[in-house]
Amino acid sequence: MSVISSYLPETVRTMDFRVFIDEYKEKLRNLFHVRANADQLGLKRGVPPFLMREIQSKTPLAVFIPKEYGGRGGHVHECLSMLEASSYESLALSLTMGINGALFIQPVTKYATDDVKERVLRSFIENKRLGGLMITEPDFGSDALSMQTSYGYADGMYHIKGTKHWAGLTGWADYWLMTARKRDGDGNLSRDIDFFICDNTAPGQQIHVEEYFENLGLYMIPYGRNRVDVQLPEDQKLQPQSTGIKMMLDILHRSRIQFPGMGMGFLRRMLDEAVTHCRERMVGGASLFNYDQVKERLTRMQAWFTACSAMCAFSSETAGVENDLAKENISANAIKTVVTDMMQEASQSLLQLTGAKGYRLDHIAGRATVDSRPFQIFEGANDILYQQISEAILKSMRRMKEVNLYEYLKGFNLTEHAADYFKETLNFSIDPKMPQRKLVDLGQVLGRVISMDFTIRLGERGFHADLIANTLNVLKQDVDMLITRFHTSLVPAYVDDYPEDSAWLSFVSGR
Ligand SMILES: Cc1cc2nc3c(=O)[nH]c(=O)nc-3n(C[C@H](O)[C@H](O)[C@H](O)COP(=O)(O)OP(=O)(O)OC[C@H]3O[C@@H](n4cnc5c(N)ncnc54)[C@H](O)[C@@H]3O)c2cc1C
Repeated sequence: MSVISSYLPETVRTMDFRVFIDEYKEKLRNLFHVRANADQLGLKRGVPPFLMREIQSKTPLAVFIPKEYGGRGGHVHECLSMLEASSYESLALSLTMGINGALFIQPVTKYATDDVKERVLRSFIENKRLGGLMITEPDFGSDALSMQTSYGYADGMYHIKGTKHWAGLTGWADYWLMTARKRDGDGNLSRDIDFFICDNTAPGQQIHVEEYFENLGLYMIPYGRNRVDVQLPEDQKLQPQSTGIKMMLDILHRSRIQFPGMGMGFLRRMLDEAVTHCRERMVGGASLFNYDQVKERLTRMQAWFTACSAMCAFSSETAGVENDLAKENISANAIKTVVTDMMQEASQSLLQLTGAKGYRLDHIAGRATVDSRPFQIFEGANDILYQQISEAILKSMRRMKEVNLYEYLKGFNLTEHAADYFKETLNFSIDPKMPQRKLVDLGQVLGRVISMDFTIRLGERGFHADLIANTLNVLKQDVDMLITRFHTSLVPAYVDDYPEDSAWLSFVSGR
């Protein structure tokens, strides 16, 4: 096995984190701004070999790996800082790191046997291996628990068969975490889900790529459809502490809670680009920066930067692999939905502010818009997650026999600091029977109240007071707007026969 020249393994493990992260940032700055043109890089699919080799020479994934396997210990604040540094330069690079860390290394760290960890995790340090996760199937995306990929067991080997698509790093990753349901003798599939490690470099374990997709953005990352027909040794099955579904929830919640790492650098970059552009661009004899509407956009972008910082602080103290996050659905879903909405809104604002220039394929604004959009879709579509936030809160209110939303929120640990801002707005009784769209509206409200709570907590630790105050105002404004929509009794209905009597030209007088 070849060893890529980089830090000595001992140095990676023990060097001061400030030095580690500063050198990583400097490497990325050099690669994306001196050695290559980041705007041009974003135009081509895949990654030039020198780029990944140089990035890997800094062993960034060491932050996710425990010390006993050659890593830096898996401290979440280090993981988020590395993701932040990556997403400031490239959201696709950060997602690549996030996939490896949260969807492969952390699950393996927590649920694989010691021998497998020694072999697999050490190879991330010494051989710069990459890993990914395959859950989604062509007919089962949001409804992943109904997946049809299945496995049987014979002679000490697991045999897994099925089709998976849209797994990040398709055809590139060396290891895959593969999900499947157990098949019994009659061909029936169990309700539980199991996770297996496929080593693409080992005989009988390769995943066959049937087609590569022309993904809209995130050009660095290959996606496609895979045929799975692999034989795996017994020890490559992950060992859940109870059920496989609980293990899956723990894994997915940990990943969602760490999204702010990817959001952080991206939001800071959107803000920096927007401020620089608006200061320099003259329109109607004045700098764009001086227009009130422009200021509003910049203020919102600053609020997203601040709220995301607050989420990072919360995540750093919550997402360690030693914690069971299977029940952490409310914070995980609130963080994932709100941060990805903020990322998309920030990129849309940058595109608006940069005008036509931003619409060039080789400009960061347009690219950021398409690159950040799927974050609202993958790992739980935001519409569904917002609904789930509401359902979880309503369930807890029912259990406590509380019907007043404000009364509940002021005693709930994720909203107790922010509830006071809504003494009036959220002071109403909730009828738990509501249409799905109202559950989604309410989930958007709750996600933002929770984000305010994180922001208040960060403020109490001394974070920039003006940024905190502005962020609370922006989020409160959004909650007030969303709650108006929630309260409206209008539930417009879809009209089935819309092609009939709906050709506008027929209604033009004097034709
Ligand atoms: C860029 C990208 C990266 C990805 N990376 C990975 C990866 O690494 N590994 C992996 O396994 N998968 C990955 N995926 C797949 C992703 O997780 C799925 O696309 C996602 O789970 C949605 O599944 P689907 O595409 O089949 O959409 P569907 O399940 O068909 O849903 C489509 C839309 O329908 C709506 N919808 C669905 N169900 C409901 C409901 N119950 N109520 C209301 N509305 C609903 C939502 O708006 C949803 O967005 C990735 C996808 C993308 C685009």
